[in-house]
Amino acid sequence: MLNLFAKIFNRKNKPTIINIHPAVNRGINPTNNTLNGGKLQCHCRHNKVVVNLESQTAHNHICGCSKCWKPKDALFSQVAVIPRDKLNVTANADKLAIVDDAAVIKRYACKDCGVHMYGRIKDTNHPFYGLDFVHTELSPTQGWSAPTFAAFVSSIIETGTDVKDMAAIRARIEELGMESYDCLSPDLMDAIATHIAQQNK
Ligand SMILES: [Zn+2]
Ligand SMILES: [Zn+2]
Repeated sequence: MLNLFAKIFNRKNKPTIINIHPAVNRGINPTNNTLNGGKLQCHCRHNKVVVNLESQTAHNHICGCSKCWKPKDALFSQVAVIPRDKLNVTANADKLAIVDDAAVIKRYACKDCGVHMYGRIKDTNHPFYGLDFVHTELSPTQGWSAPTFAAFVSSIIETGTDVKDMAAIRARIEELGMESYDCLSPDLMDAIATHIAQQNK
C-alpha cells in the first residue's frame, strides 16, 4: 500500500509522504453520474452544521491558493461548484460566519471547528456568480464529481512549501491524472475571459 504514495525528502533525508489531499492521495474516486445530491457536515462532534446539496457538483479540482479550506497537513484544498439554488443549510446555520468579508468569495465557516461549509459570490457581475464553492469530502456520500486538475499550484510556495519540492509535487499531481495549472484550467480561464468580453461590449 505504501508504494502508492509518492515521497519527497526533508532536510534530514527522511522520506515524507506528499499529502496532496486525503481525497486523492490513494487515487481519485470516479464520478457517479447518477448521483444527484447529498449532505455536507462540518467536523464538530455534536451540533454539526449540515449543508444539503440537491445536485451533482461540477468543475471539481484541487486548489493551492491560500484562501480555500484545506484539511490538516494537506498541500491543497479540494473544491467543486454547485448552483447556489441547489445548496441549503439545513442544520446549525447559526454556527456559520464569513471568514473574510473583503474576499470576493464569501466563505462560510463553522465557528466551532473552522471547516468551510460553502463559499458564495455576492457580486452579480462576477463570472462565477450563481455558483457556490463546496468541499465534497465533507460528505459521507461517494461519487461526487472527481477532481480533474490542480489550480494555483505555485501558490503553495507562498504558504510555506519549499520550492525544491515543487517538481516532485507536480509529478505526483500528474501521476494522479490531473493537469497542473498556476491559475485556473484553460476552460475556466476562457469562461472568465468570455464573460469579461461580453461585459465590455
Ligand atoms: Zn463545526
Ligand atoms: Zn483556492
